[in-house]
Amino acid sequence: MAGPEGGPINMDRRVFFRILSATSAGALTTGCGTSVGKLMPLLVPERELVPGEEQWHPAVCTSCSAGCGTIARIMEGERVTTDEGEQVRERVAAVKKMEGNPLDPISGGRLCARGQAVVQALYHPDRLRGPMQRSGDRGSGQFAATSWDAAIASASEKIAKARAADPGKIVILSSGAASTRSLALDRFAMALKAPAPIACSITDHPVERKAAQMVFGWVGQPVYDLANAQFVLGVGADFLGGWASPVYYARQYGAFRQGRPEVRGRLVQAESRLSITASAADRWLPLRPGTEPQFLAAAGRILLDSKLARNAKDIPKAAADAFRAADVKTLLAACGLDDKRVREAVRQLGESPGPLVIGGASVVHGNSFDAVIASHYINVMLGNIGKPGGILAPAKQAIAPPENYRVAEALAHAQVVLIDGANPAYLFPKSSGMEDALKRAETVISFGSFLDDSSAWADLILPDHDALESEMAVVPAVSTRVGMAAATPFIRPLYDTRAVERTLAEIAEKMQVSYDGVSVREVIEPLAGELTVDDVLHQGGFWDDAVAAPAPHIADAKFEVASSAMAGDAAQFPLEFQPYASLQHHDGSGSSLPWMQELPDPVSSSIWGLPVELDPKTAAALRVANGDIVRVESAHGSIDAPAYVHPGAIPGVVSMPIGDGHTHYGRYASARGANPLSILAPAYEKSTGALVMGGTRVKVSRVGDRRQWIQFSTPDREERDIHR
Ligand code: SF4
Repeated sequence: MAGPEGGPINMDRRVFFRILSATSAGALTTGCGTSVGKLMPLLVPERELVPGEEQWHPAVCTSCSAGCGTIARIMEGERVTTDEGEQVRERVAAVKKMEGNPLDPISGGRLCARGQAVVQALYHPDRLRGPMQRSGDRGSGQFAATSWDAAIASASEKIAKARAADPGKIVILSSGAASTRSLALDRFAMALKAPAPIACSITDHPVERKAAQMVFGWVGQPVYDLANAQFVLGVGADFLGGWASPVYYARQYGAFRQGRPEVRGRLVQAESRLSITASAADRWLPLRPGTEPQFLAAAGRILLDSKLARNAKDIPKAAADAFRAADVKTLLAACGLDDKRVREAVRQLGESPGPLVIGGASVVHGNSFDAVIASHYINVMLGNIGKPGGILAPAKQAIAPPENYRVAEALAHAQVVLIDGANPAYLFPKSSGMEDALKRAETVISFGSFLDDSSAWADLILPDHDALESEMAVVPAVSTRVGMAAATPFIRPLYDTRAVERTLAEIAEKMQVSYDGVSVREVIEPLAGELTVDDVLHQGGFWDDAVAAPAPHIADAKFEVASSAMAGDAAQFPLEFQPYASLQHHDGSGSSLPWMQELPDPVSSSIWGLPVELDPKTAAALRVANGDIVRVESAHGSIDAPAYVHPGAIPGVVSMPIGDGHTHYGRYASARGANPLSILAPAYEKSTGALVMGGTRVKVSRVGDRRQWIQFSTPDREERDIHR
């Protein structure tokens, strides 16, 4: 929503209420019932649709776990359906556009490209129209339509059988987000006496959460007050790309650079690829993959030696000893970094009146936990914990996110698998045994809106509504303020889909199991304070002004300073491989949308297909030019993809954005390109069980000429010269 100068409208609550009041009053007074009969009156009534006039309704983006509050622009639309062979036209409320909710402290009125594209998911031609039952072999993706009654009866029978045998073998996989959905799944698991749902995600940052808990005793992701910092050293966290809360940190970054008249924040980024954050930085320190702990140990030692660790007395003894034992020269050599450049950057950090280290694991390595812990201790020695411009405590989360990431372990003995908001068959490598586990399980039930890589292995698909048709409250992944973004349905579901909360309630009823349903009202009521629940729903969420207290003490958490293990024989597989979450497709979930396929990849400017990034030296040795098809091979499989010769790639490091290579995911993503996750070794981060994405060695060979690879921009000048 643009203001007079093209920026976001500066909107207070009163103005916002006025904009929404024409339609939302009806929507809000009826509350959040759980039956369709009660929900229907919440929708935009036809009589309120004035041709050519817009209405705005609060919603929530679920395209990543950041939990941005949004608003949807609604206008009159027309829907054509077929009734007994006759075409029927009906007036409907159509969602035309998404924007950030100006009242939401996370989005602040902005959205990323994926947040804008959710409209295409709502109107996607391949959305499932109703419940489906498997009609072909497991994994074949062949399904036939069934009725909800038959689907619920079948699901109940299968789950009841597993429960009677051993409820421990009922495995529920979910996204890592904390929301009314995660609460519903949690309660369903409790009702069945099954294990708690497991987060099946590669983008929910369990390592960062665990490290903050170990050092500060915080529950949740720490919040980096980038807007008030003056010198930032980023290590391994692509916070402007696909890390913890992209819109929130992009807004903070704007304030860091240009929000203060007398200060322009400076950023140095140490990362193993030229990410969006590294590209935006004043200086990029290209460290080798998995050497973040060494880099941070060296940085800590430099700060201590140069007496710039102004708060050194607060570091626990074991951590101080680890920093003091660091041999700067040897460690930086292992990182592949120039000693002088690092010393200069660390000196600037130490001398800055507002220093901040943002440590994270955009690409998880076996030693990422050690790296993030070391980054916290450097912040401790810089004295910025709980201070403006420093690292802040996360707000108490009204709903806790699912924490266990040991998916492969849990699935190994599963009898019944329920999958909601997750795609294990895509996210986990073949070597993890994920597909075999789905094949072996007696019953697999998916709640997906699309036939994707994992629901193709299901026996039953009980499709959820689209997020824009749903009632939900989502706790933001990164926030210092207690709160959540909330939405009630404002358009009628397009198809015969059902909210998962309702499906779970019906299964429980059929099984005669006592299950407490979840409603948005129920979770908002205890938080709303002086506001009514209707007020909260009207503004699209609730955000307390009180900020969480800083850590009462700094715990003595150990960290090791060692390289991460790389799977694969270095002689046979000489290159290091790092798949990373792409800006447009994130963990692969965005690739079903044509807008996201059309969005040029920020590294290679490719569209409708993602390449393998090779450094010029390696490419020359392999006689590979831009667009040539290369085979990337690990000890666990191989993929073929076009090559992009990236002048900024670190020699010997092969990177690839995640998004392509779905076996099933609608007409725009199925069988397009290759999935880099599929060839990884089955390695898991020790403290959380998260998949290690950067721990596999590969070899690359040229297997064909350029074909079907589209770049949005003019081909690189060098490339043009080669072909002339
Ligand atoms: S950052 Fe995540 S939640 Fe926010 S708009 Fe983008 S995809 Fe949606």
